[in-house]
Order: sequence, then structure tokens, then C-alpha cells
Amino acid sequence: MRLILLGPPGAGKGTQAQRLVEKHGIPQLSTGDMLRAAVASGTEVGLRAKAVMDAGKLVSDDIVNAIVSERLDQPDCQAGFILDGYPRTLAQADAIGAMLAAKDMPLSAVVEMRVDDDVLVDRIAGRYTCANCGAGYHDENLKPAEEGVCDKCGSTEFKRRKDDNPETVRTRLQAYYKETAPLLGYYYAKGLLKPVDGMAEIDEVTAQIDNVLASL
Ligand SMILES: [Zn+2]
Repeated sequence: MRLILLGPPGAGKGTQAQRLVEKHGIPQLSTGDMLRAAVASGTEVGLRAKAVMDAGKLVSDDIVNAIVSERLDQPDCQAGFILDGYPRTLAQADAIGAMLAAKDMPLSAVVEMRVDDDVLVDRIAGRYTCANCGAGYHDENLKPAEEGVCDKCGSTEFKRRKDDNPETVRTRLQAYYKETAPLLGYYYAKGLLKPVDGMAEIDEVTAQIDNVLASL
């Protein structure tokens, strides 16, 4: 099973990818992890990436594509993989398409996690966690039983990620729509696009993805 997970930041791709990893025993491939692994392993392309990053520059598509290609050749990818956060642009989609064709590893599906922007902004912007035990809460959907006291550990200290505010979330959404949303049409035209409702409960989203996979 070879999957791409598409969806804006905050849509829950990471959670669903993790469940797919556990259920199907295939690796989740994210660009950041692949880049770090390539640099650490000291392959030729990893060294090129390191030189670019050490110079404080952005790693080019050519290097990222080469790193993805190397990663796909590893034994744990032979039964399948979940690409998360790559491809991000049409140019990368073309590159991975050519790469997978050359390796005779055609994509099974591109799962799109559809979201309602306004709901997503509220969902992300309301998040906070217990500073002591990390339990997650939300201003509206998931308040502690007693206001200001963590249900799990009784701590009264909470923290909020700086980028979990409405402006930052909207900026991230705009970047997604500008760069990545064109991929939806691209994969739709190839008959690979499988939308699921990313706003549903986590278990319901998982069930929808299971249905998609069962239909392949
Ligand atoms: Zn706590």
C-alpha cells in the first residue's frame, strides 16, 4: 500500500499516519525525518544536504527528491509507505511520479483530509496543554473538569504554543492552499484522490480511511 496523505496543517495527518503505521506495519515518511536520516547516514546526497543546511540555505527540490528516492529503496518501504508532507508542490508531485514509475511502485491512493477552515482555526487556536504532564485541553471542546486544574495530575500550570493563534494558523492555511492545493486537482485527474472528512472524530476519520483502503 503506497499512500500520500494530503491536508492542511492541523488536519490530523500525523495522528492518522501513526495509526496506519501501527495497523499496516509500513513506514511514515516525512521530509524532515528523511532529511535528518540522510544527513546522519552520510550518504552522498545526505552530505550535499548537510552542506546546504550548514550554509543556512533551503534544501533544493533536487536534493529532497534524491533523498526520497534513496529512502524508497530501503527494505522497509517495499511493502508500502505513507508519505506525509511530501510532495508539497506540483513540481515535487511530478518528480515523485516519475520516481515511482521508474521503481515500479505505483501509488495506491492519495488520501485528502478535508477540513472547514474556520472550524480548524478555532480548533487549533483553542489548544493548550498541562505544563506538568502534557495532557491536552481546549478552550471550548475539552476543558478540565475543574477550571484551572489538570484532570490528570492536578497541576495548575498550563501552556500554549506560540504559533497556535488564529493569525498564524490562517497564514499556514494560506501557504497550504497556495502551494499544495493544486495537487488535489492533479491527483483527482489521475483517479487517485480519495477525500475523507478531516473534521470528524479521530476514530471516524480512521474508519473512513480504512474504507478507502478496503476499496482499493
Ligand atoms: Zn497535568
